[in-house]
Amino acid sequence: MKKILKIFCTILVIIVLIFCSLFVYDRITINNQYNISEKNLLIPIIIYHDIVEKDEEVVFDYMQTTYETFKNQINGLIKLGYKPITYKDLIEYTEGEKKLYKKSFIITFDDGYEGVYKYAYPYALENNIPITSFLINDKVGTPGYYSWDEAREMDKSGLVSIYSHSMKHDNYDKYEPEELLKDVTESLNQIEEELGHSIEKVFTYPCGLYSEEGQEILKQNGIIQNFTDSKINQSKTINLYGLHRMYALEDPTWKIILKIEYRHFKYES
Ligand SMILES: [Zn+2]
Repeated sequence: MKKILKIFCTILVIIVLIFCSLFVYDRITINNQYNISEKNLLIPIIIYHDIVEKDEEVVFDYMQTTYETFKNQINGLIKLGYKPITYKDLIEYTEGEKKLYKKSFIITFDDGYEGVYKYAYPYALENNIPITSFLINDKVGTPGYYSWDEAREMDKSGLVSIYSHSMKHDNYDKYEPEELLKDVTESLNQIEEELGHSIEKVFTYPCGLYSEEGQEILKQNGIIQNFTDSKINQSKTINLYGLHRMYALEDPTWKIILKIEYRHFKYES
């Protein structure tokens, strides 16, 4: 009996030591930056839609997030060493022109809701962090969505990147490839016209619906594409023409991190 207890205690001490050394290693290397060829980084892209003030305004946890939850999630990730980056950073990283922090991630908002302007933008300003908004051109300035003036204001801050979520938020998997290309090109061109400068060509499929033919024609035209598939990007297999994104829902920070690690493990092979 005494022997079993001794073995058990030894194993326990070893496990604790392993966890402690992993934690210490993580802390020591938290501010390390890497080139794409140096280390296989996990680069989660988080999806939000609207940010609202009160719990009662949350109808679906994937569509509305309270400001409190959003703030706690991002503050929590940042405290643990996560660094918000832009799509421009990601593009330059994949081209070998820029290093990324070990725990880089992207914060995105689909649809262009008023809550982005009202809550996420002031948060970005206050904390000096970059965020990305994918707008639907036909919805801009309609009730519940931010206006072109507000888009311009956010864009001028240098902290909000505005890209395309299509002209009309249709089921684009049913579109002929040329039709999809026309829609996305029109959307990106209008955003450039309204903002008064060129932008990276970045597009997010409405409802994550896409066809392989559509993906291919956009790729041929250099359009970076985002899915809504809950997977995690890894730098060794990163594909700018099929980027993975995950929801944060109402999860506490520890759960978001567990999901990142679990999904990396699950979709590794
Ligand atoms: Zn959408």
